[in-house]
Amino acid sequence: MRIDLHTHSTASDGTTPPGELMAQARAAGLDVIGLTDHDTTAAWAVAAEALPSGLALVPGAEISCVHGPIATHLLAYLFDPLEPVFAAARADLRRSRAGRGREIVDRMAADGLPISWDAVASLAAGAPVGRPHVARALVAAGVVGSVEEAFGKLLHVSSPYYVRKRDLDVLAAIELVRRAGGVTVFAHPLGRCRGHVVGDEVFAELAEAGLTGIEVDHPDHAPADRAHLRDVASSLGLVATGASDFHGSIKMTRLGDGLTAVSAYERLVDQATGGSPIVG
Ligand code: AMP
Ligand code: FE
Ligand code: FE
Ligand code: ZN
Repeated sequence: MRIDLHTHSTASDGTTPPGELMAQARAAGLDVIGLTDHDTTAAWAVAAEALPSGLALVPGAEISCVHGPIATHLLAYLFDPLEPVFAAARADLRRSRAGRGREIVDRMAADGLPISWDAVASLAAGAPVGRPHVARALVAAGVVGSVEEAFGKLLHVSSPYYVRKRDLDVLAAIELVRRAGGVTVFAHPLGRCRGHVVGDEVFAELAEAGLTGIEVDHPDHAPADRAHLRDVASSLGLVATGASDFHGSIKMTRLGDGLTAVSAYERLVDQATGGSPIVG
């Protein structure tokens, strides 16, 4: 079984429409795909409708969080999308993204970079705005040659153009997802290229708060970090997952560049009460 539990569509900062993503997943030989757009469930219905036979869809979302000063991403799976408290929290995160996107664009435009909010908003096309949309607008304007270059030069966390979002405290987010019947997995906890990462003591704290798993096999994790995270997960009784974090054409990563073991997948599904995988 090939199980990839972390992907993005055009409903957030990916470049592949959700229906097409399902078709590509099957063509890539996946049996299970997790659909985890940032702070939104907007693609679930389209993806479910387009599900090819033989592919199972695990509906999810990647929630923008912080632990103290450190940005953390929390994968939430199989929660009830209509549970009002968590739904309101996601709406709040999406609103915060729009304000922050404007602020980034304002700072760049004030410095003379040829970028406008209209260009960014039109690329996002209604999706919650992320730095990748700003990066694509910079590529389209000829400021940089690639999204990767935009991040390396202008959008990284130490850039003068970097603006923080208003994120959820990760402990509070774990509880919100749990109350909506979902399970949680700490996304790419040692993705050091993204900025500061948490210390080891945080895994125990999150486990105590009800975290279900840790994303171990992620493209941004070095081999030594994967080995370490596998040990951490096992010692804390957490599920170890793997995934590609596919974003379409803006990243080199392919579907299936990170896989979850069947036993780990089954543990996640068994612990969720807010929903079940959708079978095509
Ligand atoms: P944001 O959610 O707006 O803070 O942007 C974070 C998103 O930017 C991540 O989910 C990735 O999709 C993308 N990202 C982060 N770092 C890089 C990078 N170095 N190159 C390309 N995309 C990146
Ligand atoms: Fe992303
Ligand atoms: Fe992430
Ligand atoms: Zn992601």
